[in-house]
Amino acid sequence: MTVPTIYYSSSLSSWKASLDNLLNFSSWSTSWQAYSTLSEVPVGAVALLLEADLTTADEPLIGSRRVLMLVEQWSFETSLTWTALGVEACESSRDDERIAASLVSILSQRDMSRVSAQESEHMLQTVIDAIPIPIFFKDELHVYRGCNQAFSQHIGLPVEKIVNHSVYDVTLKHLADIYYEADQKLLASGGKQVYEAKVKSSSGEEHEVEFNKAVFYKKNGAKGGQVGAMLDITERNQLMRKLERASLTDLLTGTGNRREFDIAVKRARQLGQTETPPSLLIIDIDHFKKINDEFGHDGGDQALQFIVNTLQTLLPTHGSLYRIGGEEFYILLEQTSLQLAHEFAEYIRAYLPTQPFISRGVCLSLTMSIGVVELSSEQPLDDMLKRVDQALYQAKHLGRNQVCLVKA
Ligand code: GH3
Ligand code: MG
Ligand code: MG
Repeated sequence: MTVPTIYYSSSLSSWKASLDNLLNFSSWSTSWQAYSTLSEVPVGAVALLLEADLTTADEPLIGSRRVLMLVEQWSFETSLTWTALGVEACESSRDDERIAASLVSILSQRDMSRVSAQESEHMLQTVIDAIPIPIFFKDELHVYRGCNQAFSQHIGLPVEKIVNHSVYDVTLKHLADIYYEADQKLLASGGKQVYEAKVKSSSGEEHEVEFNKAVFYKKNGAKGGQVGAMLDITERNQLMRKLERASLTDLLTGTGNRREFDIAVKRARQLGQTETPPSLLIIDIDHFKKINDEFGHDGGDQALQFIVNTLQTLLPTHGSLYRIGGEEFYILLEQTSLQLAHEFAEYIRAYLPTQPFISRGVCLSLTMSIGVVELSSEQPLDDMLKRVDQALYQAKHLGRNQVCLVKA
């Protein structure tokens, strides 16, 4: 039989000899090892701990060690309090014989409990190992009491290096602090907890994970701990981001659509409350029906793509282009005065016809009419859009290939 090691907090060294005598008398031979913090005590090992030596860093580790707590003033209540925090037993520090008796009891229990639990543990392990999602469960002291192969692979430690270990034994302190706090919150509130987090798997890959955790209860109704499953939602989130992107994008030209404009203009106007407000150019291509008539609908589509590509190259960094309808576009210029927006509108109006659009060997010069408005935050957006529409109408009326402004 191997000789069990008893770990003792340093200030207990003077008692060691008397305890050793008592244990020898009971035919237990043990070896002794001093420690200064519980983290030096191996998981599952027996540790004598003087209450006065306890530090806050020790507390989370009590449940994963077999601690015999020695208190100055023993009482039934004190003993219950320590038992609830995960100690194996609590004794008065003045009573060597009781301490020795408790130690014998703890050392004897160990083997018996293992044998009786073995079969059901094996069954449970087999079942949860068959589940491909990482699963773990912890007791009320946040000590891992079980996990499956998928979880073990995910964090890159064998199951036996996780089970019966505290979260501080399996991960870095700054991460363990986060998990420990989340666990405490869930246990305190009971029920379920669902949250998303980015985690790195043992292979170093970053995954988006949804933690689904729930408190479970003992037969007597007390909280027994918590069980958690980690759903890998990386692909689902990628797909959702793609769909979200698609819902904001014009399929033909790849510019933002009306929905994206609505979001951008709201943001730009909010910013405009403290900074220069944004300005808006609304653009309608002149005589576009003729292009469709002459080059067919496909030719018209190509012309729209050509216009977008040309305009994109002219945009300033704070400008964005949106296709709002058939051949109607918006250009939103953040933090841009009406005067600067006017200059920009004139520049692009004059530039587009200089760029030949070639279809079926025919070279074509395109023109556009533009309305310009400054979007001050005082007036409702709908009113401003109506007024700039009128300015555009005026540009058409004046013969097209024109810029008209909405004057304040
Ligand atoms: P105006 O100078 O008055 O603007 O004349 P217009 O011919 O451009 O007239 P209007 O703006 O009313 O018509 C736009 C035309 O654009 C009507 C429609 O046939 C065409 N159109 C709208 N959407 C598309 C599209 O996605 N592809 C193509 N090829 N044509 C489109
Ligand atoms: Mg139109
Ligand atoms: Mg038009």
